Amino acid sequence: MPLSWLGVKHKAIEVQDQGDCICEEELDRSADNVIKCRRPGCEMQWYHLACVKLQQKPHNWTCEACKKSDGG
Ligand SMILES: [Zn+2]
Ligand SMILES: [Zn+2]
Repeated sequence: MPLSWLGVKHKAIEVQDQGDCICEEELDRSADNVIKCRRPGCEMQWYHLACVKLQQKPHNWTCEACKKSDGG
């Protein structure tokens, strides 16, 4: 009889590689409606344009979180 570990769900304690957008919805990095933060070490890196209130992709774009840690 197999031991049932089903239903035991670990919380994500491990260091995550990179997140995908603040909305936590699926993000296709090759899609046209996504943008990448240019700042190295950005926690999130990838965002939907809509989620960061952009209509087009700036050439060098930094996300809000990075702007804050840059000090303006
Ligand atoms: Zn999003
Ligand atoms: Zn960033």
